Parts: sequence; C-alpha cells; structure tokens
Amino acid sequence: MAESQYSRPCKRCKATDAPYRLRNDPTCRSPRNCYVEYVEGKAGRRLGALARDTRTSAKPAPRKYIAGLSFGPSSTVMTHVLDDSAKFHSSRRSSPAFEPLVMHVDTDLSHSADEEDTLAHRLLAKYRERFPNVSFECVHLSKVLGVRTVDWSSLPGLEEEEDGNDTERLRRFFDSLSSVTSKADILRLFIRHLLLDTALDKPYTALLLGHSTTALASLTLSEVASGRGYAVPWQINDGPYTVCTYGPSSGASESKETSRAEMPIYYPLREVFRNEIMLYLNLIPSLRELIPADSAAAGNVVSHKNLSIEEVMGRYFDGVEGPYSGIVANVVRTTGKLERVAGDSFCHICGMPLDEQGDSRWAGELGDDLEEHGHRVRLCYGCKRSISG
Ligand SMILES: [Zn+2]
Repeated sequence: MAESQYSRPCKRCKATDAPYRLRNDPTCRSPRNCYVEYVEGKAGRRLGALARDTRTSAKPAPRKYIAGLSFGPSSTVMTHVLDDSAKFHSSRRSSPAFEPLVMHVDTDLSHSADEEDTLAHRLLAKYRERFPNVSFECVHLSKVLGVRTVDWSSLPGLEEEEDGNDTERLRRFFDSLSSVTSKADILRLFIRHLLLDTALDKPYTALLLGHSTTALASLTLSEVASGRGYAVPWQINDGPYTVCTYGPSSGASESKETSRAEMPIYYPLREVFRNEIMLYLNLIPSLRELIPADSAAAGNVVSHKNLSIEEVMGRYFDGVEGPYSGIVANVVRTTGKLERVAGDSFCHICGMPLDEQGDSRWAGELGDDLEEHGHRVRLCYGCKRSISG
C-alpha cells in the first residue's frame, strides 16, 4: 500500500498520468479522458438498453424520451448525455430520430403558474443555450392538479373550491401536512406524476429519471422506512411501469379508474455513484457552472430547516459512499433482484401496486385507525401516513 496510486498507469488506456481513482483503478484525464468517457459510457449503455427494450417493431421507431431535470448534478449530467446522443443521432442519416424533452417542475409556490420572470425560467434559459439538441419545458407544480394519474377524490384537502387559484390551494394543502417527511414525500410524488402525465399525453416512449446509484439506494431505504417496501422493486428497477388514470371526482363519490397504460421508466445513471458524478462535473467546468449553488434551488414547499427521512437517507449515503461504495451498490442490486409481484390494484396517490394482504402488516395499529368503512383500500400505507400525519 506504500506505493502511491498515482504511480500506476491508467487502467483503461495505460497513460502514465493517471491522477483519478475510479472503482479502485487509476484513471487518466488526458490524453484519452478516460474518466469522462467512463461516466458517459455507463449512461450511454443504459440508453442503448432502453432502445432495445422498447423497440416494438423491426423498423426502428423515433425515440421520444421525456427526462426530469431538477437542476441538480445528476439530472444535469443526464441532460448533457441526452444532448450528446441527440447530436450524434442527428448526424447519422440511418439513425431513427432521437428526440428528448427535458422537463423541469417549478416547485416554487410563492408565484403563480403564469409568471415568467422566475428563477426556474432563468436557469432553464441557460440550459437551453448550453444544450441545443434537446427541447426544454418548465411546468409549474400547480399544474399537477390537472393530471389524471392521481385520484383527486382520495385527497380531500385539494378538492375544487370557488376561488379557483390552484397555487393557493396547493400551498394550503402542503401547509396542512404535518411533517417535513410528508411534505417531501408528496412533493416527490407530484413531480413524478407531472412527468408521467406528460409522458402519457404525447405519448413519449419512456420517462427518464436522473438518479445515481447512491440516490437509488437512498430512495430504496426511505421508501422502506415510509412503508412502501412492497413497491420498491417496481420503483427502483428499469422497465415498464403500470400507470392508472382516473376520471374527475364528482362530489362525494369516488373517482373511477378510466384506463391503464404501460410507461417504461429508466434511470440512465443508475450505475454511476454520486461522487463520480461530482468529479465528472469538476472535469467539465462549463457543465458544473450551470448548476445553481443551492441545488435545492427551486421551492419553498419543503423547509430546509428540518430534515425529512429522504434527506437523512440521502446524507447518510453520501457519507458512506466513498469507503463503502460496494454496500451502496449492493442495496440497489439486491433490490433489483426482488420480484416484482404483479398486483391488480394500485395506490390512488403514489400509483404503486398495493400489498393487499400485507397492508395491515405495514400499517399496524395506525392501519386500524384509518380503516375505510365499506370502501376498498385505495391508498398504500405510505400515502395514508403522508396525508394523515
Ligand atoms: Zn401510495
């Protein structure tokens, strides 16, 4: 161990100047830029797998992907990879069209949906300039009230009122949630629904989310902690995902499920650790500079004074990733091997399959309190807890 890592040549191209460490191997920056190529290669291979998995006919169809952008490090790297791929495919005539739409959900509820001079719009303008080969869209969180992938009758606090200001209504709803964890949970679900609803509407070929290995490990444990362990294999793996849509709620009656569709959800950066993404960004300053210093830039829905379970898990995994990266990767790999039990009923809020036999097991005593009299169980334990405190 006395020998410095720097004295060994790059594992990949044998260059002698190999200042970086990548999964324990020395890695160069020049002349071949092996570090950058490694990260981009990992993402590129996942996009290749997505193209193969979603190919429905012998004739290659256009690939229309919708990707979520939070302005954080991972989703910025994903945008960069999509921009590169789109540029590459447009230069080859034989390639089917590759048309990514990158969508940011503006979670700042201190302004309404039609305001244009906002932080989110200003940031997006910079991304537009930097990535000319992808399209961008900014959608305000209040638009979630129009999505059909949530059964709004199961969220009584959000029902239509005379004063039809959606932003106000949503802000009051978030204020009414009892804990930071609940707010963060519902916010994450709403962002996901906005992306899914747009994906189904156009329709797109697949939805891409920018989670790194580290973020997926953290999401796994926070979902287990909040009682959605049953649905974790559906959420963490790449692959098709069943999305239900619901009719409008009319008065006191429950909304009817109107359709079911399959939408593939993929995580192109699932094999890259968060610290690898950070170093990658340091190697490309023009990319790093795009990311706002406070990458929780948008939004005052969730106060940053207190930590939600999600954030606690996130910080924990950021901390252990360096020395114990094998464990972090294992959380995701093991979750990936868990069976996706095909359920026939889905939670009307988060959309995850319901563990019908196991719901009371998760819920324990709380489940008995929340028993819906004469109603089918519509919500998973995690969602019940988030909206009821
Ligand atoms: Zn749920």
